[in-house]
Amino acid sequence: MLETGETSQTDNSNPEPEGRPCACGCGTIVRRKFAPGHDQRFVSNLAKAVAEGNMDRKTALAAARKLSPALEKKVRSAVNHQ
Ligand SMILES: [Zn+2]
Repeated sequence: MLETGETSQTDNSNPEPEGRPCACGCGTIVRRKFAPGHDQRFVSNLAKAVAEGNMDRKTALAAARKLSPALEKKVRSAVNHQ
């Protein structure tokens, strides 16, 4: 008999804490869309990506709009500010 010591059962009785990763991409688990102040970070990330040509302006706005219209507004003005 081989004893691998492995329990192959998938025990998901203790899932990750309530919440989800912060939308800015920092990886912090938050209950809302963003960790405190990270909406601003998200906006500047998008603005930077657009400025560097890594992201389409339209794509950036769409990504922001998915989260909230207010955020889209912020991204719009940040992008226009370049
Ligand atoms: Zn964040």
